[in-house]
Amino acid sequence: MAPPMSASSFLDALKDEGLTVVEVGDWRHHNRNHKGSWGPVNGVMIHHTVTQGSAATVRICRDGHADLPGPLCHGVITKDGHVHLVGYGRANHAGLGDDDVLRAVIAEKSLPHDNEANTDGNSRFYGFECENLGDGEDPWPAAQLEAIEKAAAALCRHHGWSERSVIGHLEWQPGKIDPKGFTMASMRERIRARLK
Ligand SMILES: [Zn+2]
Repeated sequence: MAPPMSASSFLDALKDEGLTVVEVGDWRHHNRNHKGSWGPVNGVMIHHTVTQGSAATVRICRDGHADLPGPLCHGVITKDGHVHLVGYGRANHAGLGDDDVLRAVIAEKSLPHDNEANTDGNSRFYGFECENLGDGEDPWPAAQLEAIEKAAAALCRHHGWSERSVIGHLEWQPGKIDPKGFTMASMRERIRARLK
């Protein structure tokens, strides 16, 4: 359990990990803090967007849509491996998930199967949306996977978390399939190696 990083610390952590960061509009103050709490934070959540084209993907993640207002994450990781900051604070990305999973993340234990949607994840997780159609066929370029690894590791490094604090949306909320196209186990292994 930890207070969220400041927006400036968040930006610095990503840059210090070697990432190319793009600041989109007034991202530091674009959030859903008027709808609920932001923090304490316990981990990092990875998503795919089901969109195509970097500009459209970033715009959708910043603005959201009528039934799900943006921001839909903090950072959008496009196929070129750039991280576009679209919001900071509470964001509409995690939704309701399983309290047993949250307890496992906090304890940094292996995850139980998610079978309940009873806990607000938007206050607890940093969120990265990754540009991909999510059909299992759209490729994940090496630069994009490396950026996911670096972004997650940067936040773990700041908070003193292990790779077990990084989960996929599919591990949080029943019915979700994202990210599809690589396994979270393989991504956690990469993050573990980077944090050593
Ligand atoms: Zn998702």
